Amino acid sequence: MIDLHTHTTCSDGTDTPRELVNKALSQGLNVLAITDHDTTSGWNEARQALRGDLELVLGAEISCLTDDGISVHMLGLLFDEADVEMQVLLEETRDGRIPRMRKMIELMRAEGINISLDDVEAVKPIGATLGRPHLADALVRNGVIASRDEAFQELLHNESRFYVTHAAPTPVEAIRAIRSAGGVAVIAHAFASHRGKILVSDDFQELCKAGLNGIEVDHRDHSPAEREMLRAIAIEKNLVITGSSDYHGTGKMNSLGENWTSLEQWHRLESESNQRRVVKA
Ligand code: AMP
Ligand code: ZN
Ligand code: FE
Ligand code: FE
Repeated sequence: MIDLHTHTTCSDGTDTPRELVNKALSQGLNVLAITDHDTTSGWNEARQALRGDLELVLGAEISCLTDDGISVHMLGLLFDEADVEMQVLLEETRDGRIPRMRKMIELMRAEGINISLDDVEAVKPIGATLGRPHLADALVRNGVIASRDEAFQELLHNESRFYVTHAAPTPVEAIRAIRSAGGVAVIAHAFASHRGKILVSDDFQELCKAGLNGIEVDHRDHSPAEREMLRAIAIEKNLVITGSSDYHGTGKMNSLGENWTSLEQWHRLESESNQRRVVKA
């Protein structure tokens, strides 16, 4: 089984990279990609933990914003970790998350909600990319809300009055950076309409021109109709079709390997990076 999208404690997952590699081994996965938000900080630990026949794909999920303010997540896989342009892009995106969190907290405090930046920092693992899930955890700890899931449903979703975006590259900029660092770019959960405004099929033209390699079709946030629309776009534009879990440990319902990528599609995707970068034990 091939799962190309997962998170660890280096962003908003709850398993460390080592724990995630162990879990993939014990579940008999063949290929695991680690794609934390806007960081490569889990790569070393994952490499060190690797054993057996599992193949490891190192990547990141880059938070992007279109010029129209639509939030897009771009998976970059198999890029060169030492690429300076890529690391600067990731760092700037991480930096933008701090003032954004301050603004969200200010909006909540203005309505009398008991929350502070210190509360959020206290629940976030050291070094992890700061995100709304950490704000959710702090709200749970403060007794404001019962769970991460409820926090997103009630207070933190993209249409919420408390939602604030952060500085981020456009999807085209992210694709260009991933490709020039030798990696492959796969757009994540592009039609997950319940998350807020989404792309339309015309938007894919521009992304393809920038070098997009694939579309994540099988993802729990896509309805059957959304999957079929995306599959049709991928076939029309000759893009790789992937499926993945977007596993976050106990931070989300998604279970490891609940959606997967076919061997044929994976081989094609892997061949489009500029070097063989899959890690084997
Ligand atoms: P951010 O990057 O700070 O905008 O936060 C987005 C993150 O929140 C993504 O990783 C999502 O997986 C996560 N997320 C979205 N909805 C939920 C939910 N209902 N429960 C837990 N995490 C969620
Ligand atoms: Zn996440
Ligand atoms: Fe995402
Ligand atoms: Fe994700």
